[in-house]
Amino acid sequence: MDENCIFCKIINGDFNTEFVYENEHLVVFKDINPKARVHLLVVPRVHVASLNELDDKELLGELMMGVKEVTKKIGLKSYRVQINTGKEAGQEVFHLHIHILGS
Ligand code: 5GP
Ligand code: ZN
Repeated sequence: MDENCIFCKIINGDFNTEFVYENEHLVVFKDINPKARVHLLVVPRVHVASLNELDDKELLGELMMGVKEVTKKIGLKSYRVQINTGKEAGQEVFHLHIHILGS
């Protein structure tokens, strides 16, 4: 847990954020500022700053399976996924997350 990380705090339950889906590897919650009708964030429980810092192939697989599991759970068949990596690409929160955007 990174004390200064908003997503670590969310995962820790500090803000009572509702998880749409969770398992031992990840949590999924709604984006606070949705850019589509459905806008979810798939977030690993461990603090990894960005895709550039991730070297765990298994975790990467779990995150993508998490996308499939949560979209199946909510019945969302069409969606886009996005991983902003680095400030210039628009990354604001430096705890790795996958956006799920569905209309
Ligand atoms: P990034 O630009 O880093 O890829 O995306 C960060 C996303 O996190 C943004 O879409 C922003 O709206 C969302 N976000 C930032 N802070 C919070 C928060 O405290 N709660 C939730 N649910 N989403 C957040
Ligand atoms: Zn974190």
